[in-house]
Amino acid sequence: MSGQTPPTLEELARQALLRNEALAISALEKLPWTLFPALFKDAFNGRHTRIVKAMVAAWPFPCLPVGTLMKTPNLEIFQAVLDGVDMHLKREFHPGSEQLQVLDLRNVHHEFWNIWTGREGGACSAETVDERPVVKDLPRYALRRLHLKVVTDLYLRFPLNEEQACFLQWVQQRKDFLQLHCINMKIWTVPVCPIKEILSVFHPGRIEELELNMGWDVSTLARFAPCLGQMRSLRKLFLAYIYKNTFRTGTRTAGREERCISKAFAQFSKLHCLQHLSIDDIFFLKDHMKQILWSLKTPLETLSITNCDLSQTDLNNFPWSHSLRQLKHLALRDITLCTSCLKPLGVLLENVAGTLESLDLQGCSIKDSQLTDFIPALSKCSQLTRVNFWDNDFSMPILKNLLGHTANLTKMNVEQYPAPMQCYFGLGSVSEGRFAQLCLELMDTLRALRQPKRILFSTDPCNECGERCVYDLGPRLCPCLH
Ligand SMILES: [Zn+2]
Repeated sequence: MSGQTPPTLEELARQALLRNEALAISALEKLPWTLFPALFKDAFNGRHTRIVKAMVAAWPFPCLPVGTLMKTPNLEIFQAVLDGVDMHLKREFHPGSEQLQVLDLRNVHHEFWNIWTGREGGACSAETVDERPVVKDLPRYALRRLHLKVVTDLYLRFPLNEEQACFLQWVQQRKDFLQLHCINMKIWTVPVCPIKEILSVFHPGRIEELELNMGWDVSTLARFAPCLGQMRSLRKLFLAYIYKNTFRTGTRTAGREERCISKAFAQFSKLHCLQHLSIDDIFFLKDHMKQILWSLKTPLETLSITNCDLSQTDLNNFPWSHSLRQLKHLALRDITLCTSCLKPLGVLLENVAGTLESLDLQGCSIKDSQLTDFIPALSKCSQLTRVNFWDNDFSMPILKNLLGHTANLTKMNVEQYPAPMQCYFGLGSVSEGRFAQLCLELMDTLRALRQPKRILFSTDPCNECGERCVYDLGPRLCPCLH
């Protein structure tokens, strides 16, 4: 006997229907609606395009979360879904039959399938789950005017793939009678014109998360700026990779560049829902933090700046910004701060001591004397669960001092500290013995104060192999030192 459970009668019936497409399609009218989801899932996974199309047309539930099922892109099956929606929109409305209201194309977990196909803990009976709303008693003309809501996420990379091109053409032609919602939009290296066209269909006001990773120059960003300003529901903005400007140097062109930058940052004042702002590799950020911080109208939860230049004036503005008073996550990563005064960072940490949950200062080349400027403030950040100080130049005494001030940070889950400078030989190679001994000593310093959950000391990446020597439960050396 094999350990496999024999198929249920219902499963056998579904398999029989899928083997005979014509029968399956003709049987749909009489098929109990509770059986639709499981049959649809099987038809979709088996790529029975004609059955999928007919089932979408006859879909008896208000929502069809088909995006969850699209694990591997397939143009034919996707086209069948869209054709089915077209048929659904055109069909005569019969009182008692259900109207599809939401087509969800997002690849996100959806309880719907678990409940109705009962395959993953789906012990719910059909009666307990009220997924079918009462059919609205409306005249036929009103129902025709009810819009179908299409919810999607768009990850656009130029050139668009076949499925995206087909979908965008489909929505473009139906935009007058569909409500199109793009929740999460990622745009990678797409020229401005096609984006503006896409945003004329998917209204920018409904986008909640935007990632712009486009390799534009400043003037292109300025042309896109009005679209950004329309994104009134935006909660999360990730702005990355703006090239050096194409303007030539000179007073006139420098003025033009400044106007473009102001135009782009001025849009931040319209983003009334913004909570998370990440900026990565933007060449013109230096000396513009004040402009950004004063444009923000809401308290941020996350501020992340990576791989940019910041001036002392930029740092001086951090503690004065109202939008940074409730920060939960602060990351200033791969920013050279070795010549800056970090006292303003200390004041900022004091301001957010009650809310800050993570602090990431990896790769900032911070030195001992600078760290002392914010150790007292850091010791008050009792909500911290993560810190990362890797790739900074700290000596053994200052690391001991730092760890000695973390007694109150009892919520810490992951702590990343740089291995002390005393671990390196003159030319930057690692002394294996000193690395193991000093890291153990630091670990003991911390354990005398509290019980750390996960703590990692790391050297800079090795010049030869690029890997790190990391000390957690013991030393793990880079391949060159094995
Ligand atoms: Zn190595």
